[in-house]
Amino acid sequence: MALLQISEPGGKSSAPAHRIAVGIDLGTTNSLVSASCGSGVEVLPDEHGNYLLPSIVNYSSSTEPVVGIAAKERLVDDPKNTIASAKRLLGRALSEVSNTPLFQHFDFDQEQADAAPAIITAAGVKNPIQVSADILKALVDTAESCLKAKLEGAVITVPAYFNDAQRQQTKDAAKLIDLKVLRLLNEPTAAAVAYGLDSKDQGNVVVFDLGGGTFDVSLLSLQKGVFEVLATGGDTALGGDDFDHLIADRIKQAAGIQELNLMDNAKLLSHANSIKHQLSDSDSVAVDFLGWSGSISADEFKQITEDLIKRTILTCRRVIRDAKLEVEDIDNIVMVGGSTRMPVVREAVEEYFGKAPLTDIDPDKVVAIGAGIQADVLIGNKSADDFLLLDVTPLSLGIETMGELVEKIIPRNTTIPVAKAQEFTTFKDGQTAMSLHVVQGERELVSDCRSLARFELRDIPPMVAGAAKIRVTYQVDADGLLSVMAEELSTAKTAEIQVKPSYGLDADAIEQMLQASHDNAKADMEVRALREAQIEAQQLIDAISSAKAVDGNLLSGDESLQIDAAIAQLQALFEEGTSAQIHELTEEINRVSSGFAARRMDLHIGEALKGETIDEVEQ
Ligand code: ADP
Ligand code: MG
Repeated sequence: MALLQISEPGGKSSAPAHRIAVGIDLGTTNSLVSASCGSGVEVLPDEHGNYLLPSIVNYSSSTEPVVGIAAKERLVDDPKNTIASAKRLLGRALSEVSNTPLFQHFDFDQEQADAAPAIITAAGVKNPIQVSADILKALVDTAESCLKAKLEGAVITVPAYFNDAQRQQTKDAAKLIDLKVLRLLNEPTAAAVAYGLDSKDQGNVVVFDLGGGTFDVSLLSLQKGVFEVLATGGDTALGGDDFDHLIADRIKQAAGIQELNLMDNAKLLSHANSIKHQLSDSDSVAVDFLGWSGSISADEFKQITEDLIKRTILTCRRVIRDAKLEVEDIDNIVMVGGSTRMPVVREAVEEYFGKAPLTDIDPDKVVAIGAGIQADVLIGNKSADDFLLLDVTPLSLGIETMGELVEKIIPRNTTIPVAKAQEFTTFKDGQTAMSLHVVQGERELVSDCRSLARFELRDIPPMVAGAAKIRVTYQVDADGLLSVMAEELSTAKTAEIQVKPSYGLDADAIEQMLQASHDNAKADMEVRALREAQIEAQQLIDAISSAKAVDGNLLSGDESLQIDAAIAQLQALFEEGTSAQIHELTEEINRVSSGFAARRMDLHIGEALKGETIDEVEQ
């Protein structure tokens, strides 16, 4: 008979343990952590009841870094040691960021220019991975003390346009604090999940995310519970801060202020920010600044921000167009980001889409809540069949082939995770190494795409051109990270690389690349046709010249002259000719050399037969 178990008073019962995983919105301005607690997924507050953790870290001494509100308070008096907006540094090169307004006051470590931009602080050199790790650590601490349990993992959200390097560095940050990443999840997908839109059968969702400094629009398509990102767009220099600046300008103008010192300017901006917040709830706000008093009305605010609002709507239009949809095709609009609390934003969105956006969930919390729901599924508290989330590659991934052409291996908008393989061969006789160049983009020429990585496959056994078989496999995992493997099939020699691009790619860059491929589609096609004709011609010329070297005796003098003349004609046109002309001349060489080719074939088959028994040949 089994012993009855008696639990200690106050101790845990023996019910199957509820495993704890959190959702983390690692934001540019603020970060949040959420978890499933009883009634549903909730954002977890810190010990002071705050659920928004400013994504700011102060490194003023060699002791523990200070994170959040306390760090934010040091922005003004200790700017060189206080790092905000580190998310904007992830996956970037130093040269891209060191002179931007957000970061120009920092001392960067020039030695580490190739790795992530690293800032010199009183507590040592800090790169954005370390800063992100410190923010994650603060969130984990909050969650563990709130839940009184050890975390088993987290789902961390990233912008839909984050590239491989930015995603990898986000994971690296989690690794630094031993936090298991169950999955990186696109922010817009998380927001749609928070509203339960994944439980519908199908539909198109626009996620409108207007934060403090950035604006992102994503168009998700839902089919049978599966999300795909159809298009993304946005503006990395548009956000709530711009609205603050407009109010500040308005006050300066009304008060007749020309110049302000740094301190007063910071005060004015913070004042403007608070006015903006109040205007989300009232029609008019009184202003008192440096002896000037007046007021700003909601109508006035609407007027001065008209251009900013227009820009957000234009972006929505572009994203819908990119997805080849019409505004009527959009079933739901999800509002994300603190700035979508502004009535002017909500009204403009409603007017453009012809329906009210979803605003029930706090726009600050919606991404974190979606991440928490996903975390709960992934850790095994819910059936994974409940929903399945998929994302897509924002740009095609390809490989450089002869003639500096790009062969696309994984086309843009392919649902990930995905693995695709294609076979390639050598170009030259006796070639024993192959240089692989991984590129990203939609254009036909390598020079018009982004170079992601290069590596080499060595020790290919020497064979005639075109005989070796090299299989190249591209694999994108669920987090959007790319691994490329090349394998020579006869020897099983392999070479592999994980792609970490040296600089970033944002929504604007993606948009520009797509636009450029659209604008140049015809020219690109012509260039490709020309390069392909040139390569084919060159291969034929090379083949004939090596055949002549070996079997020149099979040629009649007349034939030889004809072939040489045809080759000379082609060579004269090689650079300037059109693809059709080159093609025609290649055919001509083929024609005049066909007799020679036939005689060589007969000779070599005869030789082969002499050396082996009939049985062997038939096998
Ligand atoms: P991020 O995604 O960049 O971390 P958030 O989504 O937290 O940014 O949004 C921060 C922005 O939202 C700030 O510009 C802030 O002023 C603005 N914001 C927050 N609450 C309100 C409000 N009630 N009315 C207007 N703007 C607001
Ligand atoms: Mg945000």
